[in-house]
Amino acid sequence: MVQAAYRNEFFLLRDIWKARKRIGSIVKRTPLTFSQPLSSITGASVYLKLENMQDTGAFKIRGAANKILSLSKEQREKGVATFSTGNHGIAVAYVANQLNIPATVCISNRVPTGKVNRLKQLGAKVEVVGENQDDAEAYCYELESKYGITVVKPFDDLDVIAGQGTIGIEIIHDLPEIDHVVIPLSGGGLLAGIAYFLKHTDPAIHVTGVTMEHAAVMHESLKQGKAVNLPEVNTLADSLLGGIGKDNRHTFSMIKQYIDKSELVSEDSIAQGILAMMDHHKMVIEGAAAAGVGWLLQQQDIADQNIVIVITGNNIDQETIEGLL
Ligand SMILES: *Cc1c(COP(=O)(O)O)cnc(C)c1O
Repeated sequence: MVQAAYRNEFFLLRDIWKARKRIGSIVKRTPLTFSQPLSSITGASVYLKLENMQDTGAFKIRGAANKILSLSKEQREKGVATFSTGNHGIAVAYVANQLNIPATVCISNRVPTGKVNRLKQLGAKVEVVGENQDDAEAYCYELESKYGITVVKPFDDLDVIAGQGTIGIEIIHDLPEIDHVVIPLSGGGLLAGIAYFLKHTDPAIHVTGVTMEHAAVMHESLKQGKAVNLPEVNTLADSLLGGIGKDNRHTFSMIKQYIDKSELVSEDSIAQGILAMMDHHKMVIEGAAAAGVGWLLQQQDIADQNIVIVITGNNIDQETIEGLL
């Protein structure tokens, strides 16, 4: 029997194992590498889970693949849609393309052409609707109700959460001695999936969520005990922007249950994280992914821990990198 504290009748550990089996042909099993430089700086044993090495440059391919591969033949024929132009949008377009399923990405007229072109190159149909993200989202759900197209949500969906949770399986396999995992946190699909798996394996594994200082929606929602809205700001961790949805069904309650600590990281520390990865590992990662490294560099009392930082993605543009250098 699973401990009462970890029971959730709508979600089962087995769903994460099924996800792993399902997504194997599309998603890479990424390396967990020991970081000698970050370990000697911090006194901990630091390991990096390199999701920046996925073909789409971010972990979001796991959730998207699990969701799309679990659709019926009829649903696949009708196609999928998303209103994300970031890593999730790229993942949905990529997976659909691999499986020969039509994909539509609904965007507002404010989305820059660079992003639009990348989605088109992946074979997605791009529909420009309205002035802002809300219009694009509303149109996406209209496609769902009118034509039976499946909207693949970025985080608040059990198949997506289970897909992200497969990272937990790989971490435990490679480092059963893990004490602590640090996970960038936005809508919470990633943290919910990984933490669900790790806490069921051993509730003593410490889970820290990290977010940028401003517009930290999940962090503030946890503090207030209800889903809140915050205005978006400019941040290096742009992939962590966005709300958690006022009708959040899964991730908010799962994060509440499984997170040990939610921490804020300054823009300066995020920048230090990006630069440290370039300097020590010759790896270019995006701000959202660097939040964990930035957090790590600020810590005083993590010596002797086996600590895993999930490096979530590499979707950063050249101007941002040049600005930092
Ligand atoms: C989406 C994303 C996150 C956050 O994932 P959530 O499931 O929304 O919490 C972190 N890093 C990167 C690079 C992302 O694309």
